[in-house]
Amino acid sequence: MSAEAKPPGKLLFGTAGIPSFLKNVSTSQAIETIAQLGLDCFEIELVKSHWLNSQAAEEINRTAKKHGIKLSLHASYFINLNSPDKGKRLASMERLLSAVRWAEKCGAESVVFHCGYYGQSSPQEAFRQIKSALQEIVSIIKIENSPVILRPETMGRRSQFGTLEEILFLCREVEGLQPCLDFSHIHAREGKVNSYAEFQRLLLKVKKKLGPEILQHLHLHLAGVLYNEQGEIKHINLEESDFRFDEWIQALQDLNVGGTVICESPDQSYDALLLQKLYQGEWRAEEKRFFEAHFKPE
Ligand SMILES: [Zn+2]
Repeated sequence: MSAEAKPPGKLLFGTAGIPSFLKNVSTSQAIETIAQLGLDCFEIELVKSHWLNSQAAEEINRTAKKHGIKLSLHASYFINLNSPDKGKRLASMERLLSAVRWAEKCGAESVVFHCGYYGQSSPQEAFRQIKSALQEIVSIIKIENSPVILRPETMGRRSQFGTLEEILFLCREVEGLQPCLDFSHIHAREGKVNSYAEFQRLLLKVKKKLGPEILQHLHLHLAGVLYNEQGEIKHINLEESDFRFDEWIQALQDLNVGGTVICESPDQSYDALLLQKLYQGEWRAEEKRFFEAHFKPE
């Protein structure tokens, strides 16, 4: 490394779940591959089903510690803290609490979750309902002495609770919450926030609302995204999307942002490496071809 080389980055890069080019492997084996690829973090996906058991959790914990891979966990998609049905609200709270307990067993530092849908309620009513559910959950987590941080995510569809403002306001109102900023969702929701200046403005807003330290440990999601007037349609790979990820990386770098970047593209390990190399200033043409030859699915 030359004397002018950048100091080691403060941003960690990793994948949402098992990289798609790996077939029939356990999460613990996937974490080994993440380490071999030179990535730094991994988000355990409990999104569609609850597949974890104690043995798997211990294995994940051990493997991640051995390789120095930082873990987070994404809670079930079947959470709606604003459901008009009280039973569904309680079941949602139970799912979120269960995710926190499993995260602790796995050694994951935070749990990312989707708050829910507006349904028939106004944004204000939805906010009140979600806030009160989260206050209860946080008080239980506190009693259990859990070190896990709860992170409500900014959402991509307009029917979903979770504009940037709503998430920041929640984090101000409920003690202990920190945001998961999904920039693809933020972009897809309004079709905006896709330039260096807008990324910077957004990050400075987060700093203003949640304090300067927040930029040192952000949890970020990124993927390419297809969208229409209703917002997000689906995730695609970064290079196939209109997302200006090079400007995004530059904005994070210039504001000295630290924390975790979790890549959620269909080919999530390729995109995580792409972002990591851009961040480290090492994405050369021959390296790009190497990764394309080895890690791009047919
Ligand atoms: Zn999510």
